[in-house]
Order: sequence, then C-alpha cells, then structure tokens
Amino acid sequence: MIMPGLVNGHCHGPMVLFRGLSDDLPLEKWLFEVMFPAEAKWITDETTHLGTLLAASEMLLAGVTCVQDSYFCMNGVARAYQEAGMRAVLGHAVIDFPAPGISDPSRKIKIVGDYVRAWQGVDPLITPALFAHSIYTCSPETLEAAAGLAQDAGCLWFTHLSETRAEVEQVREKYHLSPVRHLEKLGLLKSLSLGAHGVWLDKGELELLAENQVALVHCPESNLKLASGQARVGDWLSCGITAGLGTDGAASNNDLDMIGEIGTAARLAKLTHADPAALSAAQACGMAMNGSARAMGLGEVCGSLLPGYAADLVILDHKAPHLTPSHDPASTLAYQARRSDVRQVLVNGRQVVKDGEILTVDLPEVMAKVREMAQKVAKG
Ligand SMILES: [Zn+2]
Repeated sequence: MIMPGLVNGHCHGPMVLFRGLSDDLPLEKWLFEVMFPAEAKWITDETTHLGTLLAASEMLLAGVTCVQDSYFCMNGVARAYQEAGMRAVLGHAVIDFPAPGISDPSRKIKIVGDYVRAWQGVDPLITPALFAHSIYTCSPETLEAAAGLAQDAGCLWFTHLSETRAEVEQVREKYHLSPVRHLEKLGLLKSLSLGAHGVWLDKGELELLAENQVALVHCPESNLKLASGQARVGDWLSCGITAGLGTDGAASNNDLDMIGEIGTAARLAKLTHADPAALSAAQACGMAMNGSARAMGLGEVCGSLLPGYAADLVILDHKAPHLTPSHDPASTLAYQARRSDVRQVLVNGRQVVKDGEILTVDLPEVMAKVREMAQKVAKG
C-alpha cells in the first residue's frame, strides 16, 4: 500500500530524552514539577540535537515524513532534522520565565528572531517558525511581541490552546476571558496559524477560530494520558476548522506513532460524541496527512498523493495477516495497521527508510548516547 507520508502536527521531538521519566500525573504537576526543571538542567543545543535524531528516526521508521516540532535550543533540533532528511516546521518556543538557551527572558524575542532568520531559505525541508508556549505562560506583551516578530520575519506562529480545564480557569481569573477570546481581544487571533490540543472550547470559540482560519491539532493520546479531556473533533470539522493530528512530545504519550494516533483519534471521537460516525477512518487519516500539513502552512506541499506534491511517500507491507483482507485503505490504516508495517519511506524523493531500516541516522550510536544520558537524568 503506497500512501502519503504522515504529518505529525504537534510534537516536541527532544522530549524523547525524558520518555517514561514521569508518568501518571496531571499536566500542571507533570509540567511544572518534573518537565520544566528537567529541561532547565539538561536541555542544550547538543542534547536537543541528540534527542531529535532519535525522534526523527522513530518517526521516519513509522512513516512520518513531516513534523511540526516546537521546543527550545532549536538550532540543535533543526540540524538533526536536516541530517535525518525529514521535512519539519520548527517553532522556537517563547515563555515568560528563563528557559533552555534563554537565561534572560527579556532577550527571548531577539534570540528567537536570530534563529528564524538564520534558518530561512537554508534547506527546502526546514521551515523555521515561532511557538508562544501558551496563554498561561506568556503575558499579553510576550504574545504581542511573538506575533509581531512572526509578521516581521514572515514566519508562522503557533501555541498550546485550551489544553486543560485548569488552564482555561487560570486565564479567566486573570483576564476575565477564555484563552481564545483573550487572543481575539488582543487582536492576535487572525495571525495565529495553529492551536495545539483545543480540548476546552465552546461552539462560539470554534466559530471564531474557523472565521480567523486558526487550525487546531488534536493530540488524543497526550490528552488521554494527562487526563486533559476529550477534544470535540467532530464539532471542529462541522465548524469548518482545519484539523490536524499530532503525537505531542514523547514524555506525555509516550511514543511518536502517528498510525497509532490515527486509530486512537478515530475510536475516541466515537466515545466523545456517542456516535460511531463522529470521525470516520478516512477523516482521521486525512487529519494525519493533509490536515496537519495545512495546519503548518504546507497544505500544497505534502500530505496528499497528487501531481505537483512533493514525493513524501510511505510503502506499507500489505501482506501481514492483520492487514488481510483490506476492503478500504483508510479503514486498514486506522483500525488495523501498525507502525512496524512501514517498509519504505521517501522524503522529497529521497529514500530515508529501506526495508524497515533508517538510512540517514546511525541509530545504534544515537540510542547508546540517549541511554547514557537517561541514566544521568534518572539520577537527577
Ligand atoms: Zn505540546
């Protein structure tokens, strides 16, 4: 079965370094008590490069040819995707407190601007962008500066949007508005390209997002694991929102398996809406292909098998017993396929996975280095 390469619409690649470090916690505790301190201690351009080589390998081997990845120390991330030969839209994060690579938050817009300009036009597969971490960790001034920089530099900007109920309550307490209406009041909704998660949104907010052409990226497995809630994806589609699908980072999922994510999205929507037709197999596959691509500004580049599109292709072994018989390729992919069925992968016409082996990364060496680092991280 030949299909378009899958497009991971929301990811934090280097977080594979913290995979399994802290499970079974709610988002606020997980993020502020474990992840932010671990990142402050361990994340540098060198470690994001290492982590991203592992993340890119995991994704390419699983048929993911393009990713929207947002993190800190993005020069290391961009170099790794370039070396792996994977298509990537890479948002440098901004946040109001000191972060890896940004010890002085007052310099964040300058640092991120330098990153964006350094990577523009360097590699046809790498698109720099900007990621305002969230409405609860970025002040109105930070959000305005981020959107202003995106406009000046001619890049896209993204954010985590209404991921948890606690986030929405916190923003309401501070600004007397929901995150979406707060962005609208600041005049920033029209320039925002992508909101990740979108779990706690009412009908009026969905209509506002559709009107302003803000895409949403669904991360069902991360939402399940952190108990963030169930996004009403059926409502996104009926409101005309561009809907993508993403894994989120490996510390909250804990894998970067888009075939698994398609299956989860298709099944979970039926439960969320109490309707088996809420999200069809074809719709879930579409979200993981051209839906995610459109959300990150690549809707006419990848995510579809059509003349004029880049040759980002995946070939699945169709002869496995669990794929037999196959009446409909979307149903086969959503409900039966496994990432281990992926055999060949091409990005922009270049073969990067051959017979289930990655050609562009020395994977045994990368895994050995990650294991070594994991031992140090575990010791604190
Ligand atoms: Zn995220």
